[in-house]
Amino acid sequence: MSEHTDDRERDVVLELRDLHVEYPLDEGLVRAVRGASYKVYRDETLALVGESGCGKSQSSYAAIGLIQPPGRTRGQILFHDDRDNGGEPIDLLSFERNSRQMRSIRGGRIAMVFQEPMTALSPVHRIGQQIDEVLRLHTDLDKEARFTRACELLAQVGIPDAEQRYRQYSFEFSGGMRQRIMIAIALACRPAMLFADEPTTGLDVTIQAQILDLIADLQKQTKMAVVLITHDLAVVAENADRVAVMYLGRIVELADVKTIYLSPRHPYTIALMRSVIGSPLADDGRLATIRGTVPGPLEDVPGCPFHPRCEKAIPGVCNVRMPAFRPIDDKTTVACHLYGDGDGE
Ligand code: SF4
Repeated sequence: MSEHTDDRERDVVLELRDLHVEYPLDEGLVRAVRGASYKVYRDETLALVGESGCGKSQSSYAAIGLIQPPGRTRGQILFHDDRDNGGEPIDLLSFERNSRQMRSIRGGRIAMVFQEPMTALSPVHRIGQQIDEVLRLHTDLDKEARFTRACELLAQVGIPDAEQRYRQYSFEFSGGMRQRIMIAIALACRPAMLFADEPTTGLDVTIQAQILDLIADLQKQTKMAVVLITHDLAVVAENADRVAVMYLGRIVELADVKTIYLSPRHPYTIALMRSVIGSPLADDGRLATIRGTVPGPLEDVPGCPFHPRCEKAIPGVCNVRMPAFRPIDDKTTVACHLYGDGDGE
């Protein structure tokens, strides 16, 4: 693994190093994440993209201790937060899932907005109580100050009549409003890092744009780092600074958003981009599909995991050797034998 280094190193907020997430099941070992590495910087949005089951969400859940047994992790997830540990990065994988340290980081310095707010919000607690709980756990504010802060947060995410809405339940809100409440809860303690896992899936296009604009506005104010997990490449184009493309638990290409859209290098990224409406890469303006399907979770594909679907696969090479993930110029890091000899696994 490698990634370009530059003078932004000081601004690294979170760094995944060779992260693996595995589930030993009776049927065999499910390898959900197979050595993912990336950095995300202060005040930037890194989009994780790829088909379902590629490890986007699992790699993020690992960072906040949400991998459920029998799942297990290895590698490192380094959190660079000056408020803790005297400025030294903390390896989040060194904490037990429900340890005091992990509970203090999760929901405080690292927050997450989930895809479906109806399941993430409690149906039996008032909205205000749910924001209050986060503030009570992660701040020293007294009850009155927490109430004031909760109302400020509701107003900040665009919920009118905050004092009245504070007392309502989640089922009394629309889907878009519930997602705004999730964002208010996530941002209650001004996190350094936000994971947004498909935050607008299921919302109509207008509400989707409002929610993404809201996250971007709040990011401008707090300079938090954002990892945006999505399968929607149009959302990525509008909202990301850099893009990491994942396939079968690995990052196969990492570049700034413009480079990914205009000159993708990995055959999988190229195929993904050809399937985007309006892409200059689409042949004759027609959208392309990617042949074949993602291998099953128990399948172990030898060599490059994309080779059974790749139009450019080199026989005797791609089906035998795993390409290394390496920078090929000053913009793109890629795992593909087309760009060098490759000395992977
Ligand atoms: Fe295709 Fe080979 Fe590159 Fe894999 S390594 S993406 S099979 S050309």
